[in-house]
Amino acid sequence: MLDPDSTRQNDLRSGRGPWLAGPPRPASEGLDSDIRCDVVIVGGGITGALAAEHLTALGHDVVLVDREREGFGSTAASTAMLQWEIDLPLRRLAALYGFEKAADVYRRSFKAVEGLRERIAQLEVNCGFVPRDTVYLAAGEVGPRELRDEWSLREKAGLPGTLLDHAALLGTFGFDRAAAIVSPGSAEADPLSLCHALLRVAAGRGARLIRDEAISYDATSGSAAVQLAGGRTIEAGHVVLATGYTMPDCVGSDLHRVASSWAIATLPQPPALLWPGRSLVWEASEDYVYCRTTIDGRIVLGGEDEETDDPEERQRLGPKKTQALLGKLRALLPGAEPTLGHAWSGAFGQTVDGLPLIGRVPGASRMLAAYGYGGNGITFSFLASRMIGALIGGKDASWFGHFAIDRPDPAKL
Ligand SMILES: Cc1cc2nc3c(=O)[nH]c(=O)nc-3n(C[C@H](O)[C@H](O)[C@H](O)COP(=O)(O)OP(=O)(O)OC[C@H]3O[C@@H](n4cnc5c(N)ncnc54)[C@H](O)[C@@H]3O)c2cc1C
Repeated sequence: MLDPDSTRQNDLRSGRGPWLAGPPRPASEGLDSDIRCDVVIVGGGITGALAAEHLTALGHDVVLVDREREGFGSTAASTAMLQWEIDLPLRRLAALYGFEKAADVYRRSFKAVEGLRERIAQLEVNCGFVPRDTVYLAAGEVGPRELRDEWSLREKAGLPGTLLDHAALLGTFGFDRAAAIVSPGSAEADPLSLCHALLRVAAGRGARLIRDEAISYDATSGSAAVQLAGGRTIEAGHVVLATGYTMPDCVGSDLHRVASSWAIATLPQPPALLWPGRSLVWEASEDYVYCRTTIDGRIVLGGEDEETDDPEERQRLGPKKTQALLGKLRALLPGAEPTLGHAWSGAFGQTVDGLPLIGRVPGASRMLAAYGYGGNGITFSFLASRMIGALIGGKDASWFGHFAIDRPDPAKL
């Protein structure tokens, strides 16, 4: 497991994605005295940035601490498919938790992407955000029958989508697969630009960005405090932990594990070689591949996950994984030009039920945390920012329990 004290951003990802630096990051500063604020956020990736934007909009005095360059951890490795369809299909989530709860989770995920779209539009943030349909392809152990079951359950839950058979799928998109579900309501973005733009908005409202490392936390009394490696202390009404896949021991969850994932981006393709609508495409199988396009017409394709969180092993496997992904690109999109522009990889957090870990840290009521993302990391980061804003404002909701950090392992219920 990644060591929260020694894991650095270079251990979280290798290689470089196609993302632009976007708007300049707001400047961060060191501290030469102890300070106080309403909320201190630890971690300046997309999770911390979304929380900082939301909490400053709610009128909180926010300080955000990052020990390295904000956005250059897992956020820079993300392929940023902003989907409401979560890692675990609805039919499998319903088997774990019952239909009503599973449908509620899916609907909240749907609304989170909608909320993110609205917020980006309100803020007029330039981050390559484009609404997209998704094409969920039959693959491996998931054939037309399983996809029909999934589609029926989604329809019962009030979620949009159309089931395509082989002929309709081939005719519309050119994908030679047995079936697919095509759904509206998802999107794509440049994750680094989005992160930096949100930090700029928060800084414009007075948020302070501090370059230091949080080394210990105290949130057991009437207020909270973060001790920094530089020797200073930040006292706050609440602490928000958004340290990505380096989870401090005080959070620890049996549901969470860190794996690795690989991705490539081609050089820009002639538009005629890209599929209609440039939807987000992903396979339903356990061993999956997914792809999207970028604003400048590259194909980004990822998958090839491995159960290792060792940065050296990830680096060593890089060339083999790149070749495997290029092979999958040729198989899925035989008309595309498989010229490699970028290849990279990153740590990838997952939970056994596909749901994130968001909410109060058990035993520390003034400490809130947002962790454990899978393929929907950014969608869940948005959801986390809203839940955390509500909790800090004294509002709780029974559905927050779906994502509770101390929820039991469903396999042991
Ligand atoms: C290859 C790959 C593809 C992905 N594809 C998608 C996708 O298509 N869609 C999607 O939604 N998600 C995707 N994800 C997941 C998504 O990238 C993550 O969920 C998201 O980036 C997590 O953001 P974060 O802000 O929580 O973490 P990070 O971006 O890692 O930020 C955490 C920050 O905390 C800082 N930090 C850590 N410890 C301390 C400390 N003690 N003191 C101070 N600072 C500290 C770090 O320096 C870092 O900047 C993908 C991930 C990978 C690796």
